[in-house]
Amino acid sequence: MESALTARDRVGVQDFVLLENYTSEAAFIENLRKRFKENLIYTYIGSVLVSVNPYKDLEIYTKNHMERYRGVNFYEVSPHIYAVADNSYRSMRTEGKDQCILISGESGAGKTEASKKILQYYAITCPASEQVQTVKDRLLQSNPVLEAFGNAKTLRNDNSSRFGKYMDIQFDFKGAPVGGHIINYLLEKSRVVHQNHGERNFHIFYQLIEGGEEDLLRRLGLERNPLQYQYLIKGNCPKVSSINDRSDWKVVRKALTVIGFSEDEVEELLNIIASVLHLGNVQYGGEEGSACITSDTQIKYLARLMSPLNLEQASSARDALSKAVYGRTFTWLVNKINASLAYTDDSHKHYSVIGLLDIYGFEVFQHNSFEQFCINYCNEKLQQLFIELTLKSEQEEYEAEGITWEPVQYFNNKIICDLVEEKFKGIISILDEECLRPGDASDFTFLEKLEDTVGGHPHFVTHKLADGKTRKVMGREEFRLLHYAGEVNYNVNGFLDKNNDLLFRNLKEVMVMSENKILTQCFDREELSDKKRPDTAATQFKASLAKLMEILMSKEPSYVRCIKPNDSKQAGRFDEVLIRHQVKYLGLMENLRVRRAGFAYRRRYEVFLQRYKSLCPDTWPNWQGKLSDGVSTLVKHLGYKPEEYKLGRSKIFIRFPKTLFATEDALET
Ligand code: ATP
Ligand code: MG
Repeated sequence: MESALTARDRVGVQDFVLLENYTSEAAFIENLRKRFKENLIYTYIGSVLVSVNPYKDLEIYTKNHMERYRGVNFYEVSPHIYAVADNSYRSMRTEGKDQCILISGESGAGKTEASKKILQYYAITCPASEQVQTVKDRLLQSNPVLEAFGNAKTLRNDNSSRFGKYMDIQFDFKGAPVGGHIINYLLEKSRVVHQNHGERNFHIFYQLIEGGEEDLLRRLGLERNPLQYQYLIKGNCPKVSSINDRSDWKVVRKALTVIGFSEDEVEELLNIIASVLHLGNVQYGGEEGSACITSDTQIKYLARLMSPLNLEQASSARDALSKAVYGRTFTWLVNKINASLAYTDDSHKHYSVIGLLDIYGFEVFQHNSFEQFCINYCNEKLQQLFIELTLKSEQEEYEAEGITWEPVQYFNNKIICDLVEEKFKGIISILDEECLRPGDASDFTFLEKLEDTVGGHPHFVTHKLADGKTRKVMGREEFRLLHYAGEVNYNVNGFLDKNNDLLFRNLKEVMVMSENKILTQCFDREELSDKKRPDTAATQFKASLAKLMEILMSKEPSYVRCIKPNDSKQAGRFDEVLIRHQVKYLGLMENLRVRRAGFAYRRRYEVFLQRYKSLCPDTWPNWQGKLSDGVSTLVKHLGYKPEEYKLGRSKIFIRFPKTLFATEDALET
């Protein structure tokens, strides 16, 4: 058989499973480096795709490339995101099982780009009728809209997703995409009112100001200058060289129409965006103890509502309102997109699903707060799922093939998940307890309670419990979690407030009375009458993760692990220290070890025979009998020793890569 692989494709090994020295991290990174230098950004670990962000446009995403990966086996072509997309699609079609593709990696590693490439692959290669074309367009156009409202320029990434996203693509019995559904996770609302130096607010604010038509801006009372707005100048970075806000505005504006927003809805949506900017410009003055609004603004109710507060309280009430308005509008937007993507054809209710998960990777900063705590908890859950599903699927494959399963040693991080989420004695429960406790509850009493309750846990440390000799001495306001991916110190300052996420009741009342139809949907009247406290932020997040796990568990997973090659967004730079960290956080070495623990390599009989039949006179040009007999004859002829391989029901399992390499070499001579 002619191979579609060229010599260049074979730089290093295209599957880490084939690394001779598979326990060596240095060998792992060297293989990544060699391939990266040749612009080979994709490499497998078995069926897991490892991707290194090239930070430049490679000519590998053309229609021709898509065609090349359609219906082709993993091993016949070089590794590619399209191979993963195609493989999931084919499994869904042939086995009728729902699929999901989990994309992980740190900020800037290329998760969102990868998910867009997968979506484009389906949009272009799947069959389509006119009606399906509309769905495809809407699926594709949901991206610029969600990115405008949910992405921002950060120090790590000019287009950083500040929310987690899970998207179902629904396919009918013909394999055509007929609908979709998006679930969003934990939008970073605090960005609306504050940005760190060198960062921006969400793209939409700048797009509107730079690109909005004259009369639109006049109606909204906005000036065409971001420097006029307190909420846009905190990061001192109104312009970004890689971003054209004006042309992005046009794209977003058009996308809103394609998705099915009416002119009125767009106007109301932009009214809200403008209101947030105006709100940010509300300034307070006056003596200590009573604030009054000094800025000249139409938002008179604020004067009435906020005057009894002191300066700090008034500003924080204002910011809480801005965050609530923006956060809820974002959720409304996702719901609206979902309504437009909903599969409505009653005649074929049954559909199959491929889910795409593009969610924040493990985060360790100098200063880690409530947000990092949630994000890293999410990563623990995903790691747990990965362990369960990978080991389970390995085991199932062995069983299906009738080969004895040999147990594999690995670190099970369930103990850390429990530490965070267990009822009554997990960290989230203790945090909630402090949030609900009237009186002197504070971030500090929360920390003390943690020490009392989980102080003895092997994955929990505070300065009181730290052994100064072996561990770095810690701050008095911190607790440290020993995550599966490494240690992280969390500063408890702000944990209670962020978890409570409260909004003054009278501000809610005003929102409920608003004439803006979107706002009235966002602020439900029932919220005012309901005596029950809404769930805390951490508890809501925990519940949404539990749901996510359920969704993912019911599907067959594929994994894409994204790596960022350097911190300067530069093409061609391979920063080894940075990459080593990510290899660790992504658990790639352990992944490889598990995968190699049994048989490094497995191939279906027909594929194996087809490729190597020329090496044995009995199988050439064609083997007539049972496939397994053919493979058996072939490998005996090649001198495979009994301990080197096993024959399953439909596949040959090869223990060591070198056996396969020798066979490959024989092919070339
Ligand atoms: P975050 O967690 O901050 O959202 P991310 O992992 O989603 O980060 P992306 O936004 O996908 O990161 O990628 C960051 C940037 O890297 C992109 O804007 C693009 O410039 C570049 N990039 C990523 N993947 C590719 C690729 N396959 N080819 C070319 N450039 C890429
Ligand atoms: Mg992203």
